[in-house]
This record gives sequence, structure tokens and C-alpha cells, in this order.
Amino acid sequence: MSLPQPSASSLSRREFLGRASAALAVATVAGGTARAQSDVEAGFVDAHSHIWTTDLERYPLAGGQPVSVLAPRSFTAEELLAIVRPLGVSRVVLIQHKPYHGLDNRCLADAMAEHPGVFGGVACIEAGAPRPDVEMLRLKTLGFRGFRITPGEGGTSRWSASEGMRLMWGTAAAQGLAICPLIDAAYLEQVDEMCRRFPETRVVIDHFARIGGTGEFPEADLAALTGLAKHPRVHVKVSAYYYLGRKRPPYDDLAPMIRRMYDAYGPQRLMWGSDSPYQLGGENTYAASLKLIQEGLDFLSAEDRDWLLRKSATGVFFSG
Ligand SMILES: [Zn+2]
Repeated sequence: MSLPQPSASSLSRREFLGRASAALAVATVAGGTARAQSDVEAGFVDAHSHIWTTDLERYPLAGGQPVSVLAPRSFTAEELLAIVRPLGVSRVVLIQHKPYHGLDNRCLADAMAEHPGVFGGVACIEAGAPRPDVEMLRLKTLGFRGFRITPGEGGTSRWSASEGMRLMWGTAAAQGLAICPLIDAAYLEQVDEMCRRFPETRVVIDHFARIGGTGEFPEADLAALTGLAKHPRVHVKVSAYYYLGRKRPPYDDLAPMIRRMYDAYGPQRLMWGSDSPYQLGGENTYAASLKLIQEGLDFLSAEDRDWLLRKSATGVFFSG
């Protein structure tokens, strides 16, 4: 048996007005949400920052480390946003910080859930675990779009010899996820080998493969990094200026290296990242990092800057 449905004419005037104003309120909220979302999408994207928390009950540090190891002591999602938003940065790709949080990616996952659309995520998993692909799929449902790898991971000194590493690269290709190597230039040759095996895999290399970390910019290293541009899915993060070259603003000593990458990759495969909180200290500031791409580097057009500061990272870390 079904109950009779109330007709529109049976609604009292009070009830009708109540529903109408409720509908209007919903429309207004939806409009506000849409506006806020478009503001978020118009802002800059920082392709690389870390966060951590002093809430060790909820997020214990790897290996039972004490809170005293954290430097700076606290760098939460809220602290990060308070620094970046006044400078026009509306979205940040959070990179799992393995020394503190190990392979427990919950701190980042929770930040993404608490700030929908604001944070992207790059996770750390164990390539040598039996089924790293299962963990990648699980983390993808939580918003992660990249997986950080380092030399020697996967149980062998060569990534190509590691079954887990091969599974990770293959899964990344099939799922539209990125492999994000944190490496020195000596390992670019291994990236090249994996890119030849997995040409469909999206790759994002951190911090110019740290070329310039010694203060020198060896030609062979620069040639190795620009050489990877022949693989159309390789990207380079234009990031971590505090660590490269003279290691202080205005960072214009990095211009020749950035120009080399620009010529090899084009702006569509370069993305700016701050590497906070490490970019924050002494002369090195968030604003100084952003300023190099916003106002420095006279070979960049306005459209190029938009790729480096927004569109490249959006395509890799905020889609799919
Ligand atoms: Zn970093």
C-alpha cells in the first residue's frame, strides 16, 4: 500500500515559501561553492611541499622517533596554507615525508580529505612489498596521483631488476599516475632505462635531479637531464632553490639551467615547487621562490609562467 502523494496545491503557503527559500539558499551556496572553486583553479599551484604534525598519537613517527626530531617542530597543512594563500597559491601538492612519517601516508590523505581540491598528494610505498600495485590503487582512491621513488628501492640496486618497481611503473602507466624520482643526476640513466621499458608512464623528476646542489652545474649532468626530454611523459620540477647553486635569492644563477630545461621540455613539462618547509629559512623565503618564476627569467612569456605556476601541475596531480 502506498500513501497518497501531496499535490503542489495542497502545500500551505508557509510550507511553499519555506521550500522556495530553502531552494534559493541551496542555489546561493552552490553559486558560492562554484565561485570558490574557480578561484582555487585560477590560483598558483605549488607542486612540492611537505607537511607533518606533532599529533603523534594519531600519526606516530616512523621507528618510534620522538617529537624532538621534527624540524621545524610543526608544519601542518594549516601552517602551510597560511604562508601560501596570501601569495596567491591556492593548491599544493603534498609530498610524503618518509624520514618522519615513513610509509604511513595518512597525514597527507587526511589533509586532502579535509581540504578537498586544495591538496594533491604524492605517496611513499614499498616497491619491494608483494603487491605494490594494490597499495597504489588504494591510495589513488584517496587522491594520491604520484609515488615517490629513491635509488635502491625495490630490493635491488637497479630498478629494472625489481619486480615491485616494474609493477609500480606499469600500474602508474595504466592508472594515469606519476612516478616521482628523488635522485641525483647519476641515476638519470636508470630513469632513462625505465622510461624505455614503460614509455606510457608519467614521470616527474624532483628538483632538477639535484643538479647544482654542490654549487656546480656539470655539463654531463645537464645533458643527461635534458636528454630525458625525448620521453614525452617526463616532467621536471623547477624547485628547491634554497638547495641549488648559490642557495640564496634572487636565484638568478639558476636561470641558465632553467633555460636549458625550458628549451628541452617546453613549459608544459616544467612545474614550479617550493619544497617547503625547507625553502623557508633565513634569506630563503616562499615569496622569493615564487618571484623567480613570476617575475624573473625574462625568456618566459606570460603563458609560459602560467604553465609553470599552474597548468603543468594541475594536469599531473589534480586530474583523473
Ligand atoms: Zn622535498
